[in-house]
Amino acid sequence: MDKIRIHNLKVFAHHGVYEAENQLGQMFLVNVEASCHTRKAGCSDALEDSVSYGVMAREIHAYMQSHTCQLLETVAEQLAEMLLLAHPMLESITLEIRKPWAPVGLPLDYVSVEITRGWHTAYIALGSNLGDKEGYLQAGIHHLKQCSQIMVEQVSSFFVTEPYGGVEQDDFLNGCIKVRTLLSPFELLEKMQEAEYASGRERLIHWGPRTLDLDLLFYDQEIISSPTLVVPHPEIPKRTFVLEPLAELAPWLRHPQTGLTVQEMLQKLQTGHLS
Ligand code: AMP
Repeated sequence: MDKIRIHNLKVFAHHGVYEAENQLGQMFLVNVEASCHTRKAGCSDALEDSVSYGVMAREIHAYMQSHTCQLLETVAEQLAEMLLLAHPMLESITLEIRKPWAPVGLPLDYVSVEITRGWHTAYIALGSNLGDKEGYLQAGIHHLKQCSQIMVEQVSSFFVTEPYGGVEQDDFLNGCIKVRTLLSPFELLEKMQEAEYASGRERLIHWGPRTLDLDLLFYDQEIISSPTLVVPHPEIPKRTFVLEPLAELAPWLRHPQTGLTVQEMLQKLQTGHLS
């Protein structure tokens, strides 16, 4: 990816754990490496096709001067989020905040914190089989949209499907969405569970009726195996009701473990060739 850099932007601000730092202030140096596609701007020679380093530098300066944080970690986190939200062309950003006058009481050049943050692409499956099913799916999507760090980019059609898991219950309505998010996979799962609980969901029977069920299918090409989160969702290759709506959004998307595309997984399932 192409890079736009700002090197050693000097900002006099009031961040620090000690009260004296908050009162007197000190110099900070900020380094930015912004990843984005500059090809379009390179061809058009138009600033609106790129991310302005001048605007970014002024935003960093204004933000650092108008806020007071104890930690460089917090300053970096807040700046990264602000810049990524303000400049949709940015894919990711690496920010280093240096503190040359850090009150450590020992000779040093500077202390610093560096973080990299960026947008991720995730696919989420939605299902409901109680009450106003479409209303619950829409409410789930709306709940996720309320979070500034989640952009719902695409919504599939909703499919009526028969219940799964051998429990006698009403038909399901299933769909899938594509989101762009600044959240980590675990933070995203938390937001999804918040949406489930906001729909009044109670976990009574495994695979039983539910107002809203949200499953994280894919998060970039990451593979995660933890007690609370498994990604890609292990049931993807076995569920037509997940693959059908997903195939509307991303038929070409490859499973990072099997190498099969969504379309190939769906065909395998429909023709009975399940590995
Ligand atoms: P259920 O809603 O009944 O499908 O199961 C939810 C539980 O599965 C939660 O406790 C999650 O922590 C866990 N889980 C593991 N991996 C995932 C995933 N990829 N998406 C959603 N929930 C997951």
